[in-house]
Amino acid sequence: MYNDFQKHLTDELTAIKEAGLYKEERIIVTPQSSGIKLNTGKDVVNFCANNYLGLADNPELIEAAKAAMATHGYGMSSVRFICGTQDLHKQLEKAIADYFGTEDTILYAACFDANGGVFEPLLTEQDAIISDTLNHASIIDGVRLCKAQRYRYANADMEDLEEQLKKAQAQRFRLIVTDGVFSMDGNVAPMDKIYELAQKYNAMVMVDESHSAGVVGKTGRGVTEQYDLRGKIEIITGTLGKAFGGAVGGFTTGKKEIIAMLRQRSRPYLFSNSIPPMIAAAAIRMFKMITESNELQDRLHANTEYFVGQMKAAGFDIKPTQSAICAVMLYDAKLAQEVAAKLLDEGIYVTGFSYPVVPQGQARIRVQVSAAHTREQLDLCVAAFKKVLGK
Ligand SMILES: *Cc1c(COP(=O)(O)O)cnc(C)c1O
Repeated sequence: MYNDFQKHLTDELTAIKEAGLYKEERIIVTPQSSGIKLNTGKDVVNFCANNYLGLADNPELIEAAKAAMATHGYGMSSVRFICGTQDLHKQLEKAIADYFGTEDTILYAACFDANGGVFEPLLTEQDAIISDTLNHASIIDGVRLCKAQRYRYANADMEDLEEQLKKAQAQRFRLIVTDGVFSMDGNVAPMDKIYELAQKYNAMVMVDESHSAGVVGKTGRGVTEQYDLRGKIEIITGTLGKAFGGAVGGFTTGKKEIIAMLRQRSRPYLFSNSIPPMIAAAAIRMFKMITESNELQDRLHANTEYFVGQMKAAGFDIKPTQSAICAVMLYDAKLAQEVAAKLLDEGIYVTGFSYPVVPQGQARIRVQVSAAHTREQLDLCVAAFKKVLGK
């Protein structure tokens, strides 16, 4: 049997390579940071990490993680409800709720799990989920696991959302679901209008703040801060794996009855291990740090404004962005890979994105700005793009 299957896989993999869609992994031998070294010995400036606040190698967080290993051990060897809940997990859940202005929080091993486990326990075939077409894969998978009626609206298209909400009046409960920042374009969901429509058509709202938390809004509290909706959104999901230190872990935060039900019924919570104490402790410290000082958020905003300004001035085809994501459009998948490779030669580490991560014919290079980037590093990146793309 395996011989046939092996040939099938080899053929498929060859086809992926020939289409320029094969994803190679580069190997980093230093901590994650704005400047990193690859196993080839090459030093590069990193513009493709989700390390928005530059916390991935923060000494204070490393210290907090080490201290927690001494006091709370290495791993939990249990799911939360059996014997996997430490004081640290409860403290972190409270810190997240305080940060977002919500009632309660439930932790997961990843935001992929938070999204995978949020719909099925809450909604049935009597209900409706109205989802943005550009929502993250984990939301799409989560929706698939739920029996609710599915409606999709074009990315951030409020006329389409209204149409779908009208149709969804046939169902009992309605939940609108959106990413806060769409990770491939960097645009922000129009939460003010989404909230208005939710009020008008009697729907609840869920927003995934994975790329917006720590980034969008004056103090980085995400799109609910940007649109003055603190405490008004029923469900927020997010990750500890991006701006918030970049380790691992996800959460759902929001109305307390929703969180209570998820603790009873959410499968990735019930059937998957607790996050380790060192992550919980470092995350608690991280929320304290970014609440006490807005320095990193301010620096990220200044860096992003500067970088996008320079790229626009140079005449590059850039998707309108309101986040730390800057998508440089090249459209052709092979070209995007080639340009990324040439930029690497220039010491700039970026990734080309092509189908299936973005639609066919929409290949691009995504640049992600960090608070950790120096002005000099940002200038190097702009200069490298100019050289490689001949501007
Ligand atoms: C990255 C991301 C996730 C997944 O987060 P993990 O914690 O890495 O699983 C989920 N949703 C969105 C919108 C993301 O960008």
